Amino acid sequence: MPETEKVHCLIIGSGPAGYTAAIYAARANLKPVLYQGLQPGGQLTITTDVENYPGYPDGIMGPQMMIDFEKQAQRMGADIRWGLATKVDFSVRPFKVEIDEEKWIEADSVIISTGASAKWLNIESEQRLNGHGVSACAVCDGFFFKGQEVAIVGAGDTACEEALYLSKLCSNVHMLIRRDEMRASKVMQERVLKTANIKIYWYSETDEILGDKHVTGLRIKNNQTGETQDIDIRAFFVAIGHEPNSTIFKGWLDMDEQGYLIAQPGTTKTNIEGVFAAGDVQDKTYRQAVTAAGSGCMAALDAERYLGSLD
Ligand code: NDP
Repeated sequence: MPETEKVHCLIIGSGPAGYTAAIYAARANLKPVLYQGLQPGGQLTITTDVENYPGYPDGIMGPQMMIDFEKQAQRMGADIRWGLATKVDFSVRPFKVEIDEEKWIEADSVIISTGASAKWLNIESEQRLNGHGVSACAVCDGFFFKGQEVAIVGAGDTACEEALYLSKLCSNVHMLIRRDEMRASKVMQERVLKTANIKIYWYSETDEILGDKHVTGLRIKNNQTGETQDIDIRAFFVAIGHEPNSTIFKGWLDMDEQGYLIAQPGTTKTNIEGVFAAGDVQDKTYRQAVTAAGSGCMAALDAERYLGSLD
């Protein structure tokens, strides 16, 4: 028989949303248990300096910030554990959540803060130079390349938004689009096309990101002619979409066509009373550490109110 444990408030996921939910839930005496998931600390652990999180006047490294969040949650009494939620059963109360395919947690309330993962091109140079000029977040890292040449790949709304953001900071933005049209909304396309320092490369793909320890250039390949060209850049931004980490909730929770959980406006309540969603798993628009933390706080307050109503 697999082992079973009963908890009052279970938090799944350990980015800013999960840890903030843990801090608030612990202070409200909900005795939260948090399972960290595959990537403890979440997406911030793959960034370098974070300069836009209020309260750190000198900035902070993303991984260190997540260690601080974790320590703070632990100091408040949250029980932080290694482990991955592998299955859920929300048809019963308490809710059932399977951990690491081997044990079941029975939880009176569940806060889902499993985040989203940036999609990557999956080429060797991209992985090797990640955090050294390769980034999946222009708002996080664009500032470090002020006045320099940068490139971005992608042609959706995110890529357009990030290209426009970078165009205000960087000397030139080289934008690689693999077809002869963009997927982004017309208004975003027009803004990009009207921006003088965004140079578009149609039918173009990333052959290789150049550089030994840091990004120094980019080899672009035209997928119609096979021709390649090298350009000098200092940063390479990947903006080809995100995937919310919501697979195990399919069939239980309402989600949009891309898999983002749907929370009732102005709350973190999902379609199942007692199950709450916070952070990037339910936010495809803002996706910032500070907004994720804010919604983690909301989820803990929503859970506290819900659990109070049970008593
Ligand atoms: P999308 O899925 O909309 O776009 C991804 C883009 O990346 C596409 O242009 C796609 O090309 C390209 N792409 C995918 N894989 C590769 C690859 N391997 N190599 C090169 N290019 C690749 O993702 P977004 O993150 O842009 O947007 C997600 C959702 O969020 C959308 O619904 C969007 O409208 C929404 N959004 C809304 C915003 C707003 O309203 N302000 C802001 C940001 C996002 P192709 O077109 O050829 O498939």
